[in-house]
This record gives sequence, structure tokens and C-alpha cells, in this order.
Amino acid sequence: MIRLPFSRAFLNGAVAAGGGDRIVVRQLVELQKQIPSLYLLLMVNAGALGFSLHGVAPVELTVWVPGISIPFCLLRAVHWWRLSAHAATEAEAFRRLRVTIALTAILALAFVGWAMALSQYGGAPEQAHVAIFVAITVVACIFCLTHLPVAAFVTTFIVLGVFQVSCLTSTSPVFIGIALNVAFVTVVMIRVLAGNFLTFVRLVEAEGQAQRLAEENARLAHTDSLTGLPNRRFFFQHLDALIAEQDRHETGFALAIFDLDRFKPINDTYGHIAGDRVLSETGRRLAELSSDSVAIARLGGDEFGVLIRAPGSDAEVVAFCDRICAALQEPVRCGGTQVSTGCSGGLALYPRAGRTADALFDRADYALYHAKEGERGRTALFSQAHEDVIRAERAVETALRSADLAAEMELHYQPIFDTRTDAIVMVEGLARWTSPTLGRVPPDRFIAAAERGGMIHGLTLLLLRKALADAARLPPEVGLSFNLSSHDLASPETVLAILAAIRGSGIAPARITLELTETALMLDFGRAQEAIIGLHALGVKIALDDFGTGYSSLSYVHRLPLDKVKIDRSFMADIDTDLGRGVVGSILDLCQNLGLDGVAEGVETPEQLAAMRRQGCRYVQGYLIGAPMPLPALLARLGSEAPPAADRRSA
Ligand code: C2E
Ligand code: CA
Ligand code: CA
Repeated sequence: MIRLPFSRAFLNGAVAAGGGDRIVVRQLVELQKQIPSLYLLLMVNAGALGFSLHGVAPVELTVWVPGISIPFCLLRAVHWWRLSAHAATEAEAFRRLRVTIALTAILALAFVGWAMALSQYGGAPEQAHVAIFVAITVVACIFCLTHLPVAAFVTTFIVLGVFQVSCLTSTSPVFIGIALNVAFVTVVMIRVLAGNFLTFVRLVEAEGQAQRLAEENARLAHTDSLTGLPNRRFFFQHLDALIAEQDRHETGFALAIFDLDRFKPINDTYGHIAGDRVLSETGRRLAELSSDSVAIARLGGDEFGVLIRAPGSDAEVVAFCDRICAALQEPVRCGGTQVSTGCSGGLALYPRAGRTADALFDRADYALYHAKEGERGRTALFSQAHEDVIRAERAVETALRSADLAAEMELHYQPIFDTRTDAIVMVEGLARWTSPTLGRVPPDRFIAAAERGGMIHGLTLLLLRKALADAARLPPEVGLSFNLSSHDLASPETVLAILAAIRGSGIAPARITLELTETALMLDFGRAQEAIIGLHALGVKIALDDFGTGYSSLSYVHRLPLDKVKIDRSFMADIDTDLGRGVVGSILDLCQNLGLDGVAEGVETPEQLAAMRRQGCRYVQGYLIGAPMPLPALLARLGSEAPPAADRRSA
């Protein structure tokens, strides 16, 4: 709102009001544009009047007064010209305005006194010039002092006061007429001036409001509303600023990314309100750790970014980041319950890990990924070893891009064994790539490289067509299990192409199982669900692969039309312990309750096979039954179908 008391105070002449207001600086700026002209006008008018009355009035009045006042006016004009009004502080501007008002009063008195003294001399034309001098000068003052109304009022009051008294007492009707006329014009002009000044005050106020609004908007645009921390945009702007700063003096800085572990299950299990509570508490704890040299932002979801200026030694910065992890691992109260998330961090140091924002962020992200894979709850510092792995990954990506995939890719098949019939009922197709430059590359590595490089769509379809062609050569009672990448289900085109390939292969869809991992479902659950329903409608079976390694597999099992669950091979290692048996037992119970087939992966020993039989697990897969093998070996194996020797011993 407009602060009228101040402007009114000004209009009313209470100069001392509102010394701290920014309007005074704007007044000074506007005055600077007018006052030099006012002084020039005064100089010309004074010179002209002196000249007119030269020889008529005493030389002191016609020469000395202009001779002193004109240089004085010139000096003041130059002073105003050279003033840097924009740079003035409010206090300074206020002081200058006060001086201006005082000086205006003195000059008004001096000039009108001088004019009145001159009006004693000469005839009618000379006196008319004096009257014109006074009238013109006062009008000019009102114009030029629009932005300092008090000065305009003071001038008008003094000049008109003296002039009116002198005219009205002169008994000449012409001068009385002039006096009344000038008085009338000035009153109208003062009114106009007051209106203009009020408009000016409102304008300045509106500008101030607009600026405050813009500042608030800028603050909001850089703040995350849930946690109150700076947001992703702020983080990257600050990062760019830090990089630019390093050009001037390279003090180094650290970029860390933190990600809450187990946040998704908390959100899924306790609901979004609990999730938000965890995030805002996380924000609060992080805000406590930020300082002049530590900027912390929420990057999105459960990910937070930290920029540390002049971070000290590697050990020091890692210790600081571990402290952040530890602070975020403290339990959070949500209503009646306490939940606790883990937190892992990835750390990249400038300039060692890179000199650009993208390079640093990618490397911290990479280190974070490794912290999550390996040392959860700690901060991983991006190292030379990581750099080597990235190089190797890039090499795989490059080789894959230039590969003749149709010629270099093949499939090996691993038998899946039915413990009730002691027969191989299915085979899982596993991709094999022999690159002319890199040699044998493990499938997890080239599948991941194809996903990163956007080549997975083509690769999946190529492998699927090969597998379907191979399946046509298998006995009809043997099914084919095929792995889909997590990216495949997220792409409707890929899903349509998969459906078309299966339809076109002539293989009965019921013989085909598609294996999906939990990551495939998590990438875009809605799309994955749609795709699975479509595939299922065709008659294809769906298996959830690597079951038990994710966090929320259980919540998906009953929401999707699944047929099988493949129990991850990591459980097989513990099958000789009570705990391991218990976990596998409960997964198998779950399968039974939901009418799903359980497939135990990674069966390597007769003891493990025997345990699976005892637990009632119908299907098993692993090196004991047979390692993945090329198609001819598989055909030979199926031709001489007999239970493996080891199995016969244990059965
Ligand atoms: P997966 O789907 O879990 O495949 C099973 C992996 O376990 C295979 O590794 C297999 O060789 C290995 N394995 C089988 N029996 C045993 C055992 O008794 N003990 C041990 N320790 N391991 C055993 P492989 O062939 O290296 O494949 C690794 C992963 O690569 C696969 O895991 C799968 O996720 C992915 N993959 C393989 N082929 C394809 C494919 O055609 N498409 C896609 N999208 N992914 C594939
Ligand atoms: Ca699999
Ligand atoms: Ca698996």
C-alpha cells in the first residue's frame, strides 16, 4: 500500500519526515534532471534583468548582483550535473534534499529582494520587466521543483509574498492586476504540482512493491516448498557460480549427493503423509548442517545435494558427509510410530572428478550408486577405480554401437527342471555377446550399456526373434523363458513389437514365459501393468525374476497377473541355515497361496536340490541341473533326457 503519511508530510511541508524512505533517492534523481536547467534559467533571467536596468539602477544592483549570482548559479548547476544521484544512500539523499530546500529559500529571498530593489528604478517598461522576471522565475521554479514540493512551496510563498505586498501597495492598477494574475496562475500550478507529486509517490511505491514481489518470487522459485530447503534450480546455479569462482582462485569444492534408503517402502507402507514428514524432518536436519561454506538443497524426491566450499582433506570431507548420513539415519516420529530410513552419499571433488557441472554431478551420482550397491549408510568418494569402471562401461557402449549385433549375439539356454516329473520342462534364454574388440562381455554389462545408450529396444527384439527361432527346434513340451529389460515394458512400441514377434513365430504363447525384474515394474508401474495385462491376454506367462532382492516385491505380486516367481539365487547360499530355509519357505508359501509357481534359481549342490524338494519347490534351475549352453548342446541334452547324475544320487 501507498504510505501516504510520508507523502502528505512532504506535501504539507514537514520535511523531516521519513528520512529512511527510498523515495528520497528517487526525488534526488528526478531533481538532478531539472535543477541544472533551473539554475541556467536563473542565470539568463538575472543577466537579462541586470542588462535591462543597466544605467537606470545603481551599478551595485545591475552589475554586482548578477556578477556574483551568475557564477554562483553556474557552480551549483555544475555541482548538480556531476552529482551521482543514483548511487546516493537514503540518508545522503535526504540530507541533500534538506540543503536544497534551505538554499531555495535563501535564493528566493535574495532574488525577490533584488527584483524589488530594482523595481524602484526606471519607468514602466523596466518595472514591467521586473514583474515578468518575478512571474516567469516563480513559474519555472514550480516546474523544476515538482519532485521537491516543499521547496516549490517555500519559493512560491516567499516570492509571491514579497511580490504581492510590493504590487498591492504600489497603488498602480496594472501592478495590482499583475499581482492577482500571477497569484492565480501560481495557485493553479501548485495544485497541478501537488497532484503530479502524489502520482510520482504512488509510482515509486508501486515500483517498490513490484520489486518486493519479484524478490519474493525469486526466493520461492529457489525454495523447495516441502522442506524449505533451496531447490534443484538453486543448487545448479550455485554450482555454476562455484565453478566460475574457481577460475579466479582455485580453492576447490566438493559436490555430494545423498539419497534416502528405504524411502519408497515407507511411502508405500505408511502413506504419503508419513513420507512427507520424513522429508521435511530430513530437510530440517540438513538445514542445521548448512553454513556459509555448506549449501544444501533438495534435488527432488528423496535426493539431496550438498556443495562444500574449500572442503579440506579427503578424509575430512568424507567424515563430514558421513555425519550427514548418520544424522539422516536417526529415526523420525510419524504420528504414533517411528520410522527410520537409511542414507547413502556419493561425493565428487573439484577439479579431480571434473571441471564442469555435468561431469561433477554425474560422478557424484555414480559414487552414490556404488555406495548403495556396496556400503549403504556411508558416503562413497568418486575415485580412480570408479573412473576406470566408467571408461570400461563407455568402451562397452562404443563397441555395442558399432557391433554387428545379428552376427555377434547368440543365446545360450539353461534348463529348468521339474522336481515332480524329473524332467526339463523349460529353458531360460541367456544372451551371449562376443565382441571382436572386447571379447566375451557378460550380459549384465552389455544389457546395462544398451539401456544407457538407448539401444535396448533393438537388442531385445533381436534376441527374442533368435530365441523364438531356436524354440521352434525344441520338443513342443519344453517351454522358453526369456528375459526382458526393465526399459522394455516402459516403451509401448517395444511391447507391441514383442507381441507381434511372438504371434508371428508360430510358437504357442503358452510355451513362453517372460521374466521381469522389480526394477522393470518400478520404472513406470502404470505402463508396466498395462503391458503385462496385454502380454498375459495373449497367453504368455509372466515371471517375477530375482524375487526377494527388491524391497517391495510383495506389494506387486497380487496387483499383477503373474504366473511365476523366481527366487533369487542369493537365497540358495543360506538354505542350510534355519533362517535361509525359513525365508525360502515363506516365499514358497506365498506362491502357493497366490497360486503361483515357485522357481528356485542357483541350485548348485545336491543338498540344495534335496532341500528344495523337501520344501515342495516344484521348479529348480542352476549349475547342478545344467549351466547355460548353446542350442546344439541343449538339443543333445534333451535328446538323451535323463536326470543329472548328482540329482539321482540325492533323490
Ligand atoms: P538372470 O536372469 O538372473 O539369469 C540367471 C543368471 O544366473 C545367469 O547369468 C546364469 O548364468 C546364472 N546362473 C545360473 N545358474 C547359476 C548357479 O547355479 N549359480 C550361479 N552363481 N549362477 C547361476 P548370466 O547369463 O550371466 O546373466 C546375468 C543376467 O543378465 C541375467 O540374470 C539377466 O538379468 C541378464 N540377461 C541375460 N540375458 C538376457 C537377455 O537376453 N535379456 C535381458 N534383458 N537380460 C538378460
Ligand atoms: Ca532371468
Ligand atoms: Ca534371476
